[in-house]
Amino acid sequence: MTYLSDFDTSQTIQAEVTLNNRITPDFVAEVRSIWLRVNHPEFSYREGQHVGVIVPGPHAFGHDKHFRLYTIANSPIRGDDNTVDIELCVRRCFYIDEFSGEEEPGIASNYLCDLKVGDHITLSGPYGEAFTLPQDPEMNLLMIGSGTGIAPFRAFIQHIYEQHSAWKGKLMLFYGARSGTETLYRNELNNDLDKYYDQKTFQAFEGLSERPWMDKEDDGLSDVLKNNADEICEMLQDTKTHLYIAGLEKTKHNFEQAMQEAAGSSARWRWMKEELKEKGRWSELLYG
Ligand SMILES: Cc1cc2nc3c(=O)[nH]c(=O)nc-3n(C[C@H](O)[C@H](O)[C@H](O)COP(=O)(O)OP(=O)(O)OC[C@H]3O[C@@H](n4cnc5c(N)ncnc54)[C@H](O)[C@@H]3O)c2cc1C
Repeated sequence: MTYLSDFDTSQTIQAEVTLNNRITPDFVAEVRSIWLRVNHPEFSYREGQHVGVIVPGPHAFGHDKHFRLYTIANSPIRGDDNTVDIELCVRRCFYIDEFSGEEEPGIASNYLCDLKVGDHITLSGPYGEAFTLPQDPEMNLLMIGSGTGIAPFRAFIQHIYEQHSAWKGKLMLFYGARSGTETLYRNELNNDLDKYYDQKTFQAFEGLSERPWMDKEDDGLSDVLKNNADEICEMLQDTKTHLYIAGLEKTKHNFEQAMQEAAGSSARWRWMKEELKEKGRWSELLYG
């Protein structure tokens, strides 16, 4: 288990906001695409990594800063002047205050969502070497995510189809959202993932909730995983497959439940999972 306090934030860099657009319609949870320009000669990152955002204080309980992590949603774009443009995909979050019972805005996500073009912010990192692409271009990528967990996969997909023509492995994406309009990068406000859907090596499966109007209702990821569990299981037994899970903790829980059923018993699934971890073919990036 890694805690936020384990992250080294002693080295920071400044970034300028160049764009901040909402990518979900007004009637569903707000998610924004936030572009930042980093002008620092030593800054570089690999697809799948995340950065730290430091929100300056003072904050409650005497904290002088509030620190949260955000996955970079694009493959690096380096300008002639050595700047690097990165895109974050941020959901505006709220939490219930345990004393008042009131809904309060989450500090970092609201800070990011409210940024204006030209604002400057402080970043640390990048972090997360363990959630990057394998070296071997023959590896198949099995990507499981929901909500903003799409961010690292979008960076992988961009990199492979735009910069790595030698990639031979298959890319299989399982993605859950409550409704079609909440499907990030594939709704009417931003559909840039669409251009990869006709790639021969790319297959995507989307699960949508059957009751999106109910607040506590799960997204449709569980169903789409269960419906394809045998194929996923078979793919996982291929030593050329690397599994990636990203998003909220419940994404992993839903995935494991579907796999337990497909594997025939929890013991057999445990054995498969240990094998994947031992061989370095299991990566997860979880939060919330
Ligand atoms: C490695 C890593 C990568 C992350 N990448 C992203 C990312 O690309 N985009 C992103 O929006 N968030 C991402 N997060 C979550 C992010 O770090 C913050 O936890 C989140 O923005 C809430 O912070 P806050 O200060 O606004 O509110 P907090 O007070 O910290 O949290 C408010 C509430 O929001 C819940 N929550 C946190 N993140 C989400 C989410 N994405 N969707 C739904 N509920 C959530 C929390 O469980 C909590 O109940 C990532 C977290 C980790 C650990």
